[in-house]
Amino acid sequence: MKHAVVIGGGISGLTAAYRLHKAGVRVTLLEASDHLGGVIGSVRHDDCLLETGPDCWASNKPAAMELANELGLGDQIIGTREGVRRSFILHHGTLKRLPEGFFLISPMSIGALLKTSILSWPGKFRMALELLKGVRRDDSDESLAGFVRRRFGKEALERIAQPMIAGIYTADPEKLSLKATFPAFIDMERKHGSVIKALRKRARGESGKAPSGGEVAKAAGPRYGLFVTFKGGMSTLPDALAAALPEGTARLNTCVKSLQKQDAGWKVELADETLDADAVVLALPATTSAGLLADTDAELAKALGAIEYAGAAVVNFIFDRDQIAHAMDGIGAVIPAVEHRKIIAFSFSSVKFEGRAPEGKAVVRVFMGGALNPEVAQATAEEQSSIALDELRDLVGVTGEPKFSIAGAHPGAMAQYHVGHLDRVAKIRELAKAQPSLAIIGNGFDGVGIPDCVRNANEAAARLLKQS
Ligand SMILES: Cc1cc2nc3c(=O)[nH]c(=O)nc-3n(C[C@H](O)[C@H](O)[C@H](O)COP(=O)(O)OP(=O)(O)OC[C@H]3O[C@@H](n4cnc5c(N)ncnc54)[C@H](O)[C@@H]3O)c2cc1C
Repeated sequence: MKHAVVIGGGISGLTAAYRLHKAGVRVTLLEASDHLGGVIGSVRHDDCLLETGPDCWASNKPAAMELANELGLGDQIIGTREGVRRSFILHHGTLKRLPEGFFLISPMSIGALLKTSILSWPGKFRMALELLKGVRRDDSDESLAGFVRRRFGKEALERIAQPMIAGIYTADPEKLSLKATFPAFIDMERKHGSVIKALRKRARGESGKAPSGGEVAKAAGPRYGLFVTFKGGMSTLPDALAAALPEGTARLNTCVKSLQKQDAGWKVELADETLDADAVVLALPATTSAGLLADTDAELAKALGAIEYAGAAVVNFIFDRDQIAHAMDGIGAVIPAVEHRKIIAFSFSSVKFEGRAPEGKAVVRVFMGGALNPEVAQATAEEQSSIALDELRDLVGVTGEPKFSIAGAHPGAMAQYHVGHLDRVAKIRELAKAQPSLAIIGNGFDGVGIPDCVRNANEAAARLLKQS
């Protein structure tokens, strides 16, 4: 392979381009927008650092950490600030502490369950019955909501599981595939007869490895202790990848219109030019890849088109610290859909990470949209800012106007891993075997997080190199 064209300059495309370049391949990276990094975007304003896309990644999945270290960024990685690794959850209009001793959707002990104030007594009783529930042996996929309702009850779904997973998958839990997102819970049910029992054993170190890299015993709600970012913001990673590519490799404002298969290689059609490539990497939302492949392989295009996406938006605000009544004694909050708010979660970014705001200022990042709130994802930036501000006024007592705000809209950016996702991906992989000089990556297949995208890109580049 002499020349590879990578389409899409998000973290997936940049990683693939970097790997291919390092292996000696000439790479052209085509990006439709005016910047690299895709949904990642760190913005500086008045000594504050704001993230218009992702604000961290999970360090227990090694690929992003390894890439950062390889690029010499190891000393720039920071974790969430010690001492404030606690979060809130909205409960009947009031922000309450997330329960201690829970692992995402399940308590790790009956003691932890009894202590929480975000479940009613009947809700707690029903959750505790999980210990006695029968095991589902049917191997077909199940929705996360179906699983949680079956094992822990409706209240646990509405008050704990839905808000905990919404911030990760922006998904409707009634449609979210358990197999594709939390297969560990299926194993726990099957091997131990109960998720609570399995977590209790793992926390005591009785059955091998804890699911989150040894952190389960410490986990309180989302595993914030595991989350890391860069001192200079998330854009540090795409910036370093771009800098490692030879000048002229990345072409911005270059939208690929179509892709034509040749006897050997590909023709990549741009608005007013055609490029020849020995290999092509599609690092795009699966639906966009589907459109580009429609002429070459209708069946593969159809399979790709079956992966659904939802939009999300992030609004960042800078306030004077004294404009916020809340004590800001945690890193943020998740908002259950049953609370009927218009946001999914918010972070006190300047509490969560060092260096986000100078003394006396506060940065707050609001996450909104997703599958359960599509109209918010589709609103204008002005409307999104106004919705987010109204919610913050109500939830944390913001007064006055923000000193600055910026909205990052990401229409159709979040892949939805619906029930049957693994089968759909297997079908795509099978059909794609007919195109050995093509790699299809992005967040639509094997994980939505940044480490998943990096791992996927590494593997795809290695596969192309092996075949060439
Ligand atoms: C708001 C938000 C918050 C998130 N928070 C986190 C988080 O905190 N931690 C975490 O691990 N993950 C998070 N994620 C998920 C993660 O950030 C994404 O899954 C990942 O960054 C996707 O990268 P990508 O390169 O696959 O796709 P993208 O970043 O979507 O990049 C695709 C690129 O392709 C370009 N493109 C599209 N069509 C064409 C075309 N025809 N020709 C050329 N270029 C084209 C686009 O302009 C874009 O730049 C978040 C996602 C969102 C949207």
